[in-house]
Amino acid sequence: MASGSTNRFFASLWTCLLAGSLLLVNCILVRVEAAKGDANPSVKPGDDFYGYANGEWLAHVSLPAGQHTYDNRIMMAEKTRDRVRGLIQESAAAHVPSGSVAQKVGDYYASFTNEADIEAKGFAPLTDEMGRISAIANRSTLSAYLGTTLIREVDGLTANSDHVFGVWVNQGFEDADHNLPHLWQGGLGLTESGRYLDSSPQAVELRVKYQAHVAAVLRLAGLADSDTRATSTVRLETSIARAFAPDSDAADVFKQNNPWKRGDFDRKAPGIDWDAYFQSAGLAKLSSFLVWQPSAVIGVSALVGSEDIEAWKDYLRFHLIEHYAQVLPKAVRTEGSNFYGEILSGGAEAPDRVDEAIDATNGALGEAVGQLYTERYFSGDAKRRAQAMARDLVTAYRGRIANLTWMSPSTREKALAKLAALEIDVGYPDTWIDYSTLKIVPNDAFGNMKRAEGFYHERDLAKLNQPVNPVEWPLNVQVPGAVIMFSPNAEFFSAAILQPPYFDAEGDSASNYGSAGAGMAHEITHSFDELGNIYDARGRLRMWWSDEDRSRFHREAEKLAVQLDGYCPFADLCLKGKQVLGESVADLAGLLVAHDAYVLSLKGKADVVIDGFTGEQRFFRAFAQRWRRVQNETALRKQITTDTHPPGEYRSDTVRNIDAWYKAFKVAPSDKLYLKPDARVRVW
Ligand SMILES: [Zn+2]
Repeated sequence: MASGSTNRFFASLWTCLLAGSLLLVNCILVRVEAAKGDANPSVKPGDDFYGYANGEWLAHVSLPAGQHTYDNRIMMAEKTRDRVRGLIQESAAAHVPSGSVAQKVGDYYASFTNEADIEAKGFAPLTDEMGRISAIANRSTLSAYLGTTLIREVDGLTANSDHVFGVWVNQGFEDADHNLPHLWQGGLGLTESGRYLDSSPQAVELRVKYQAHVAAVLRLAGLADSDTRATSTVRLETSIARAFAPDSDAADVFKQNNPWKRGDFDRKAPGIDWDAYFQSAGLAKLSSFLVWQPSAVIGVSALVGSEDIEAWKDYLRFHLIEHYAQVLPKAVRTEGSNFYGEILSGGAEAPDRVDEAIDATNGALGEAVGQLYTERYFSGDAKRRAQAMARDLVTAYRGRIANLTWMSPSTREKALAKLAALEIDVGYPDTWIDYSTLKIVPNDAFGNMKRAEGFYHERDLAKLNQPVNPVEWPLNVQVPGAVIMFSPNAEFFSAAILQPPYFDAEGDSASNYGSAGAGMAHEITHSFDELGNIYDARGRLRMWWSDEDRSRFHREAEKLAVQLDGYCPFADLCLKGKQVLGESVADLAGLLVAHDAYVLSLKGKADVVIDGFTGEQRFFRAFAQRWRRVQNETALRKQITTDTHPPGEYRSDTVRNIDAWYKAFKVAPSDKLYLKPDARVRVW
């Protein structure tokens, strides 16, 4: 997200692994998938269900060196990353037909890893663009150049805009029929405005180091007087930072809903020659925009009018080099990883070139790699099985919503309409991005990156004239993750998250519903809870709960908060029920709905017994295995104090609220986890 803001347009659960910065490269743990062999049958399920389901696994797993946490998600990310690396490297080594998806993937990767070629070219690939910056002579040509920087986002959703405005094409906040350009703030090398404005000694020191970094980069590119240029660049960025919206606004999507007509830019934000800007950005014909942070548009535009043109030119030169640093000589890359890795991110190791190349290939050709991934690891049958489960979950949800007592009848109607309209996509898209017009060639890392950016920009511009597509995938299927879009009303579960131990396309259905099913239902819940209640069935910003619904919901949820408050992993530290309530309610709803869906899937027949375990037992065991995790004390304490998700063991204890769990494991009043029927919480 732009400049570190949190965005309520999407919530995501498993997406913490999206960036690919997994710190897992050296993990030597042998992969162990959840199975009965991981359980410890000597533990009584009613006393310690988490220990019962995971005892063996917990006894044999150890934290990989240098890590504070290890769990299913990390294991899956690591396994998937190995697979993706293998696929990309195979494509690079293979002789595949020119123009094929594998050729593009292979050549993108190979050119990126051809460091000798990149070194030999030096800064020559930037010559044309540097010339365009040098030719800037007045406010109009400056504005026109700034317009061209709007195209440099491969992924508007997650990219951190490294130029003054970022753009993302999506439906409007109130208009579900048309795609609009959403403009947001950007252009700060230090990404957060506070880093420029804070007067603490640490912030002051960071700015000194950043300025030295800017100077070093300009010097490496052969620019004279690099110190002077760096001083004015950081000064300009500081002025841009002053125009940024307060961080607190980021959590409030209503503050981002600022429809501007084309004429508003001239009227409200003088300085930029907006005709020239939108012309070169390819947006000249548009009349409607959404401006997320008006203060930034107004402030930056004023700076175009007031600041020295030469200062702008140095700023643009620096950001141009930074933007393409990964495909420029090693000295620039090393300078970048020294500053951004060690100083800004606190001592991360210099990235491995192969890892960088894998990330870059996934970034530029995400759905091409996705095609290779699903061809090998996620079949059409797997997709059909996951779709059938998703359908059962929706049917089960319909039943739950229809019977909710805390929703008023009119709210319930809206919830049912939203559920009926919800688009759930699993595995991979029905239609992949067509890369046929994107030329990827060997030994041209810079050109490949630039052409890929242009390709996506053209796609974005084309979208402005097309109807809203609710099934456009916002994440790569080869990344274990799920994304709730809210606007449009759609959720996505990648092929890579639908793998063991969460989902086994050829395995036991009961376990699939208990694990992946409960996870999917958790996410679906967010579309109807306090996150999703501000978006209607078509993803428009519209509150559809009433105040009465809200207070009745809180009354129900409060009972779960009290239950959570009672979990105390340390003598001096208990869970904070309120802090984890939203996620715990979604866990509870997810488990209830997944169980209903599992029962539905049996169509009245009894499930088979496998290795002595009934379907009901396997369902709940898989749920508890989903949450297994080892972490050191510091990490566990930090999670309890700051995270909105409870530690795995207590997520697993959600089963205490489900009547069927008591029956499946004959849990008795004398057991430690037993709750009297009237103490079991429902909410959904
Ligand atoms: Zn959640």
